[in-house]
Amino acid sequence: MSLLVVGSVAFDAIESPYGKVDRIIGGAATYFAVAASFFTHVNLVGIVGDDFTERDEAIFRGRKIDTSGLERAPGKSFFWAGKYSEFLNERVTLATELNVFADFNPRLPEKFRKVSHVFLANIAPDLQRSVLRQVQGTPKLAALDTMNYWIERTPAELKETLKHVDVLMINDSETRQLSNEHNLLRAARHIFKMGPSTLVVKRGEYGAMLVDSKGVFCVPAFPLEEPHDPTGAGDSFAGGFMGYLAGCGQSNDAALRRAMVYGSVLGSFAVEEFGPERLRKLERKEIDARARHFLKLTQFKL
Ligand code: AMP
Repeated sequence: MSLLVVGSVAFDAIESPYGKVDRIIGGAATYFAVAASFFTHVNLVGIVGDDFTERDEAIFRGRKIDTSGLERAPGKSFFWAGKYSEFLNERVTLATELNVFADFNPRLPEKFRKVSHVFLANIAPDLQRSVLRQVQGTPKLAALDTMNYWIERTPAELKETLKHVDVLMINDSETRQLSNEHNLLRAARHIFKMGPSTLVVKRGEYGAMLVDSKGVFCVPAFPLEEPHDPTGAGDSFAGGFMGYLAGCGQSNDAALRRAMVYGSVLGSFAVEEFGPERLRKLERKEIDARARHFLKLTQFKL
């Protein structure tokens, strides 16, 4: 089993009531790869500029992450800036500078073409489809994340790409926007007609919900007294979810439920400190301990 991710590797500027950083490594593929690497080997495809140094790349070293698909181009790396509201429940994007990302044309190294699991992080739907086309055969599980930007600007391309994925993993407002349905179960039924057979709705502090033909499974967010920075929580959730599934090689209902818990575990660690700082220090035994804590959180007797 192997896991491929394509998406942004970036520098972020983040402001929350707990502090401010002007330049910290970020990007959806960064959070995803680090989170997933606790469970399985990850092949990373993305692009950075010449401002991305060896020291920056150190975040991937010493982990099961192959960066030979991380292209370097002259110019600046993707840059994103965001600011969170007092209770961290709202975020405004202050800047999105595509830089080298603007002309990104993902090319999979030959050794990346045979993969069992694919995660298409939030990038242009056409680029997501081009990655899928380069994969040899049909992967066991292909999942996709997207955002309002693509739902509004490239709806036709997004619909075409959705026909080729198994799992759609997006937040609640995007689920409603894409389906034109407020109710998430009705939204899921609508989305199943577009291609995916599984919908995972990320709901921030309210946890996450999986809907498929077998029914619904909900997982809470881990209750934290002092979350510092929600940036990358969704991508870390996706990394925990896909990493676990690729690592165990199963995709039955029980495995999907455990993957939801590992997704929530990784998302909860990501928000504890600014940027990916908490994930950098994280150890596998802490992940397992928090997963056991989830058991206690949700168990009850009738
Ligand atoms: P999340 O908090 O899960 O939405 O992910 C935040 C990460 O996504 C940040 O580290 C950003 O660098 C990255 N990001 C923000 N906007 C975009 C975009 N339009 N395309 C790709 N990556 C993005």
